[in-house]
Amino acid sequence: MSMSQYAPCPQCQVSNANPVRFTRWGGMLGPKLLTHVKCQQCGTAYNGKSGKSNTNGIILYFVVIFVVLFIIGIIAALAGLTR
Ligand SMILES: [Zn+2]
Repeated sequence: MSMSQYAPCPQCQVSNANPVRFTRWGGMLGPKLLTHVKCQQCGTAYNGKSGKSNTNGIILYFVVIFVVLFIIGIIAALAGLTR
């Protein structure tokens, strides 16, 4: 458990973050993909790689999931039409 493993907290500048294993928005995959970490000092969650907010990454994650599900839906519908 190295303290310099992740970028310092954007809120309090302390380098003491732990990885977040699970979130409501991303389940177990999302926080892993976005290097989502939580500051042990002030509780701020952020991107442990860039040291910045993960908000844009979370939005992008949602968009990608939505597009993938949409494409799967179209494929399923087309497969249903040709059966
Ligand atoms: Zn902090």
